[in-house]
Amino acid sequence: MNTKKPSRNLRFVIIGAGMAGILSGIKLQQAGYSNVTIYEKAKKIGGTWRENTYPGLTCDVPSHAYTYSFEPNPEWSHQLPPGAEVQQYFEGITAKYQLEKNIQFNQEISRCEFIDGRWQLETKSGTKDQADIVIAATGVLHHPRMPDIAGIDDFDGAIFHTARWDHSVPLADKRIGVIGNGSTGVQIISALSSQAAKLIHFQRTAQWIMPVENPAFTEQEKEAFRNDQALLKLMQKHPDYVASVNRFTDGVSNPDSAAMQEIEDIVLANLENSITDPILKEKLRPNYRAACKRLIFSPDYYQAIQKENVHLEDQAISHIEKDGVRLKDGTLHELDVIALASGFHADQFMRPMNIIGNNGIKLNDVWASSPRAYLSISIPEFPNLFMLNGPNGPSAISH
Ligand code: NAP
Repeated sequence: MNTKKPSRNLRFVIIGAGMAGILSGIKLQQAGYSNVTIYEKAKKIGGTWRENTYPGLTCDVPSHAYTYSFEPNPEWSHQLPPGAEVQQYFEGITAKYQLEKNIQFNQEISRCEFIDGRWQLETKSGTKDQADIVIAATGVLHHPRMPDIAGIDDFDGAIFHTARWDHSVPLADKRIGVIGNGSTGVQIISALSSQAAKLIHFQRTAQWIMPVENPAFTEQEKEAFRNDQALLKLMQKHPDYVASVNRFTDGVSNPDSAAMQEIEDIVLANLENSITDPILKEKLRPNYRAACKRLIFSPDYYQAIQKENVHLEDQAISHIEKDGVRLKDGTLHELDVIALASGFHADQFMRPMNIIGNNGIKLNDVWASSPRAYLSISIPEFPNLFMLNGPNGPSAISH
């Protein structure tokens, strides 16, 4: 391992042991910093890949690109890796770099205050610590957002948020409702369409779907990756993937660009060519331009939604009651299980942590109207506090 000798023995605290926090731990280790603690609120690493275990969970970024650049993985099973494999990858890396010794599990930071040039930290259980530098690797997809639908507690069957999937609930031959059609809801519909007796997909706003392929890697391909580092490196920055990222970046930053036109052409053709029933096609047709919402990437949603046992419900929900979901038009969908694919409070970032910078300035006040940061990384008046994937970070992919 290539470790350097730093000129100062700085004390680092990293908040969160997801993929960003683990990466920080490794990079600090390689830079020769040993005075590093990672605080993790849960009992194991993994962040969003630990929290989400729903059926069909898949990373919609190609597996070889969804790796640390310095730790390519020839063993990925599919072009798009199943969530459990992603979790396993990060657990393997954590073990390889012996990072567990730096991680304090079940310790949620509740307060950080900058006093006399150092950060004073406190966890929910009352542990106190200090740091010269705080790295907030808190992620964005970990505070489940419950839908504002009345009657959730009245349902007699099983009901849970998708990030709190209850695996003790049987699904085969059950009547299942999925509320929400972001990436999560779409992946769940694809996965459950082959086992549910009846599957109702509740859609409030239609989504554009970008077609993707998800072939399994053959044993020969994996063998080639194992034996050819250059090929493995190429897979990490595969020209097709880089081109699709660049197309998306160009598209969202300039709606009149050729890239945006190309995206719109692809998703429109996908809808037109995949859905045969004209009524269903119109229900699935968004009334806004592609990429105004995060694009959904799916190899099989349009097939799943056309199966006999699957129904797309685009009428507004009135409330949830004992037997199922009641629509505003009076229809009742009787259900055994309801999965709430209603997303996360993605604008929370480090909050509800109480973060206090120079001269008592509170982050809650600075971010009262919306989260803002310098280059997604730092915030004026909060010295030596660095965010990984801060405000606007995910969309600031550069070429
Ligand atoms: P999401 O994209 O925020 O979608 C939430 C869904 O719930 C939307 O369809 C929303 O409808 C619906 N909803 C919320 N409240 C509702 C209500 N009261 N009544 C009816 N519908 C309601 O959540 P997500 O799908 O969990 O995705 C969260 C993030 O994770 C996204 O950034 C996503 O891209 C990411 N993700 C990534 C992957 C991956 O493979 N990389 C996989 C899964 C998720 P409206 O559209 O009408 O608001």
